[in-house]
Amino acid sequence: MANKWVYLFSEGEASMKNLLGGKGANLAEMTNLGLPVPQGFTVTTEACTQYYEDGKKINDEIISQIMENIKNLEEITGKKFGDKENPLLVSVRSGARASMPGMMDTILNLGLNEEVVEALGEKSGNPRWAWDCYRRFIQMFSDVVMEVGKKYFEVLIDKMKEEKGIEQDVDLTADDLKTLANQFKAEYKKMLGTDFPTDPKEQLLAAVTAVFRSWDNPRANIYRRDNDIPYSWGTAVNVQMMAFGNMGETSGTGVAFTRDPATGEKKLMGEFLLNAQGEDVVAGVRTPQHINQLKEVMPEVFEQFIGICSTLENHYRDMQDMEFTIEDKKLYMLQTRNGKRTAFAALKIACDLVDEGMITEEKAVSMIEPRNLDTLLHPTFDAKAIAEATPIAKALAASPGAASGQIVFTAADAKAWAEAGKRVVLVRLETSPEDIEGMKAANGILTVRGGMTSHAAVVARGMGTCCVSGCSEIVMDEENKVFKLAGKEYHEGDVISFDGTTGKIYDGAIPTQEAKIVGEFGRIMEWADKYRTLGVRTNADTPEDARKARELGAEGIGLCRTEHMFFEGDRIDAFREMICSDTVEEREEALAKILPVQQGDFEKLYEALEGHPVTIRFLDPPLHEFVPTDEADIAKLAKTKGKSVEDIKAIIESLHEFNPMMGHRGCRLAVTYPEIAKMQTSAVIRAAINVAKAHPEWSIKPEIMIPLVGEVKELKYVKDMVVETADAEIKAAGVELEYEVGTMIEIPRAALTADEIAKEAEFFCFGTNDLTQMTFGFSRDDAGKFLDAYYDAKIYENDPFSKLDQTAVGRLMEMSIKLGKQSRPNLHVGICGEHGGDPSSVEFCHKIGLDYVSCSPFRVPIARLAAAQAAINNK
Ligand code: PEP
Ligand code: MG
Repeated sequence: MANKWVYLFSEGEASMKNLLGGKGANLAEMTNLGLPVPQGFTVTTEACTQYYEDGKKINDEIISQIMENIKNLEEITGKKFGDKENPLLVSVRSGARASMPGMMDTILNLGLNEEVVEALGEKSGNPRWAWDCYRRFIQMFSDVVMEVGKKYFEVLIDKMKEEKGIEQDVDLTADDLKTLANQFKAEYKKMLGTDFPTDPKEQLLAAVTAVFRSWDNPRANIYRRDNDIPYSWGTAVNVQMMAFGNMGETSGTGVAFTRDPATGEKKLMGEFLLNAQGEDVVAGVRTPQHINQLKEVMPEVFEQFIGICSTLENHYRDMQDMEFTIEDKKLYMLQTRNGKRTAFAALKIACDLVDEGMITEEKAVSMIEPRNLDTLLHPTFDAKAIAEATPIAKALAASPGAASGQIVFTAADAKAWAEAGKRVVLVRLETSPEDIEGMKAANGILTVRGGMTSHAAVVARGMGTCCVSGCSEIVMDEENKVFKLAGKEYHEGDVISFDGTTGKIYDGAIPTQEAKIVGEFGRIMEWADKYRTLGVRTNADTPEDARKARELGAEGIGLCRTEHMFFEGDRIDAFREMICSDTVEEREEALAKILPVQQGDFEKLYEALEGHPVTIRFLDPPLHEFVPTDEADIAKLAKTKGKSVEDIKAIIESLHEFNPMMGHRGCRLAVTYPEIAKMQTSAVIRAAINVAKAHPEWSIKPEIMIPLVGEVKELKYVKDMVVETADAEIKAAGVELEYEVGTMIEIPRAALTADEIAKEAEFFCFGTNDLTQMTFGFSRDDAGKFLDAYYDAKIYENDPFSKLDQTAVGRLMEMSIKLGKQSRPNLHVGICGEHGGDPSSVEFCHKIGLDYVSCSPFRVPIARLAAAQAAINNK
């Protein structure tokens, strides 16, 4: 049997969303509920996919089913396509599985031509209406189907209004509209070189094609990427008999929400316009009236509408967003869907629905979009101010929040200016570990280079600081403290604003407001914790971050990157002395200066975690990141070491690597400089012993994590010295202390030999930043430069550094767990790459049996919610 590509509304239902799209499935459902829906049919999402498979052509089988259904629709409505007596006019709208607002405009009044419009005007006794429909149709068809643009037609309308001395479209007469329609057609011919199509069937096929085509427009592609909607889903097309809101003062059109989408309050919200069609409400040509005023104008219609609202809300058990049209006092429902809402409203609505007995706690947890919680945790721009602002550029939305402040170009300036009480934003080509203090002091960070896992992005997310990265449009001159963007020069002290949630950058100041954690947020989180089985830890290197993360619900630290600890105060001097030493003794002497401060850091972390697990990862970055670049610092180091400046420069030069990401870093440092790992072990163990003594009620069991392991012998080599050092410390202290030594799985070779690795490692933690980098062979700091081309070519749909690549990286993870547990059944496994805070990646981690995910503090609530949803969805 031939494939079924087209469904009448009466043939579908809400559960068929994948095939009919959200709009189509809900139109079918409303039809089944006996609500007044103008009838029609849906061309399926599969037909859209087929259109692309057939080289962007609608094949004959699909065309013939569309035509068959036009016949069916003619029978149902008693009207006929192109008929002069009783013409059938339709609307054509897109409708994907997930709503994608603004992706594609609607085409209304399709089926009109010169003859039909004349007949329609005469028969209805309302020629103004008939010509209004026709001019709208030409306008929309030209814009949406032929992509001519709206502006030419708007200019003609404005000219006509000016000539007539009127302000409102509704004051145009039938003759005016007829003249306009003819002007529009002339414009169409001028622009496209062909006459405006008169055959309704030809019009329809062109419109359906345009909807399919719109699935691949740049706007849609970006929207999908931002919202995790796969390209393969395709869009459906809904063809529906027109109901006319523009027939006069007893007609109208509007939109309404059953609850307030901004606050969640249970009250009808919405607006309508009399004598208008759908796009007038959105376009703002006239000011619509509040939905409650419909009660005064058409009380019976209002009452009926209120009844439908409650039917729909009770049926879908969620806040509904509806579109309706009134044609000469008769109400028609054109759409219903679960309404989009702010994160704040989402929490309130979910809690209220539970309290009203409409939904279960599990359902409430499932209803919240985890990513939206971001907006509740960071400062945001004042809604009105941001709506009025025009962005000057857009780059990667690397860390959410809103930043506004004076530009500084160095971390030192950021710190100094902030100490002087100024609000600053740090703008740099890229950041490095040396910039930490300045990054902390800044209100926001903007970088020219770097992707979602660049230093700036990772660190900013950790700190909860707003960051926009990879803005390659900036022409930077760091030395002279000036950059150019959007044709303007920005100097130190000039003010800019940017939004780490959208990646948009603005000229000048935009007021921000602090985010608050409100009551419903806590309730939803409590429910989330009740249903999730996956643990949620945090990536934190400072007690402040750790405390923040605990406040947000983290159950431990999954990754403490110790490298940042080497930069503070005079530790960096001691560490540089270590790097520039000639003998082991010299190195040990330098490291001995760092040991007590590092121990102090660890003690504070253990205190902050109050007995919850803390995984401390040993030094990871290449040593060259630590050496001085500044002449004065080099001279200072030479003096301390009793070496010449040239000698120090030669050492620095010798540390240079062509590919430091794959160079002398991770556990390789422990192999070449065992002293570092030994010092870190002593610091961890001594800290644990001290805190355990002070707090016998806590259970402190250090987890030492060795990074960048690829070979079991390499792990064993480092582990042996860690164990030897740790045991000696414990013995010397005369206490009992359990500890674990585990490894990161971040090199494909480790994943492939996980059974061997697990013989030594007591736990695994997936470092999916490096694992992604090394599986794809993409530099995590540079991939942003070419990934756009990959998106355009549909090779990849997402940044694999943000959203876990389940196909390959995920397969390596699954394989590692399986192999690892073969050797060590009680192996515990986590993830601490950036993916640990990404909802779809969290779901994957749940499915493959991880024990916990670890993410930056501000993503902890997102991970908790995503983990609960994963548990609920995969029961
Ligand atoms: C990783 O590689 O995923 C990881 C967590 O380590 P880092 O980002 O510090 O390399
Ligand atoms: Mg790593």
